[in-house]
Amino acid sequence: MELETLAVHAGNSPAFNSRSVAPDLVLSTTFERNPDGNYDGGYQYTRGENPNRLALEGALAQLEGGSMALAFGSGLAAVNALLQTLAPGDHVLLPDDLYHGTRFLIQQVFGGWGIQHSITDFTDIDAVRANLQPNTKLVWIETPSNPSLKIADLSAIAALAHDAGAIVAVDNTLSTAVIQRPLTFGADVVMYSTTKYIGGHSDVLGGALIVRHGLEDGLGGRLKRVQKLGGGVPSPFDCWLLLRSIPTLPLRVRQQSQNALQIAQALAAHPNVEHVYYPGLASHPQHALATRQMPNGFGGLLSFRVRGGESAARAVANGVKIITQATSLGGVETLIEHRASVEGPNTLTPRNLLRLSVGIEHAADLITDLTDALDA
Ligand code: PLP
Repeated sequence: MELETLAVHAGNSPAFNSRSVAPDLVLSTTFERNPDGNYDGGYQYTRGENPNRLALEGALAQLEGGSMALAFGSGLAAVNALLQTLAPGDHVLLPDDLYHGTRFLIQQVFGGWGIQHSITDFTDIDAVRANLQPNTKLVWIETPSNPSLKIADLSAIAALAHDAGAIVAVDNTLSTAVIQRPLTFGADVVMYSTTKYIGGHSDVLGGALIVRHGLEDGLGGRLKRVQKLGGGVPSPFDCWLLLRSIPTLPLRVRQQSQNALQIAQALAAHPNVEHVYYPGLASHPQHALATRQMPNGFGGLLSFRVRGGESAARAVANGVKIITQATSLGGVETLIEHRASVEGPNTLTPRNLLRLSVGIEHAADLITDLTDALDA
């Protein structure tokens, strides 16, 4: 089936035994036991399994082409679970531009549990090779990166990592399976903050890991144990909301990508814009690679630097009228944010950079909103 058809039907689950067309919401935390001690319904206790969570996990695994998926209460809870499969002394290789929360989790929490890490530029394959160590067990990729929209070569990095005996995880939050399918380029695990495009309406927090075929018993089994015993699972209602969003995911992401490309082109032509970061622009340094890896558009996230420094950038973020000034991304509404001040004091993000999460409004209205603020 094509992705659009899968998106509509992948959440159908025999777990729901009524004949309702929309999935039932099963809030019960516990399920009745048979006199013989078994559970004929297939469910015992919701931290272990719940029909809504299983339906969501099934849909995510199918969309991504994985063997299994595990849902968590947030994107960082999913990253946390993957890191908990490592052992003290293991080394993680990270790109120099990645979601700051992932970096903080590895440095500030897992550093204390003996997990080592190095950071390098993933657009430089020689640098990736040079930073792999005998104890590197995980290579973490974010492409496009956040907020600089750098593109890492998934196949090349996966090959290097596998030669070094490490697994490859890709944070695919910014692209989703609509735009980019990391498992087809050699990744072992795909991670999502489902809070973003999968949820798509800025009203549910969630995360997920999808494991490639062949790893369901090994890594997949270890992750399932962390999920169940760590307990960082989403509520049935959050799973229900996410499942409700998945059928429109291809429509939304395609519209967001088309809008983002038009906005990137308009911003690039504006005299008060110093630089636009968007892999869909022919001027992007990895545009050719992005075209190969992202065959269905370049996503709804872009960044740009405003001439005149931080104060000018903040004036633009304060000046827009349709666009909302807020953090996060992937919702139907367009958001703008001054990224460096969100990332904290050690950020490498330029002080005049604004990040835009493009929504599904009409591109012409968004361009007028931004150019009015830039003109002012
Ligand atoms: N990965 C990326 C690329 C993100 O943008 C975020 C959140 O902003 C996360 C992971 C963390 O996800 P969550 O906020 O759902 O924990």
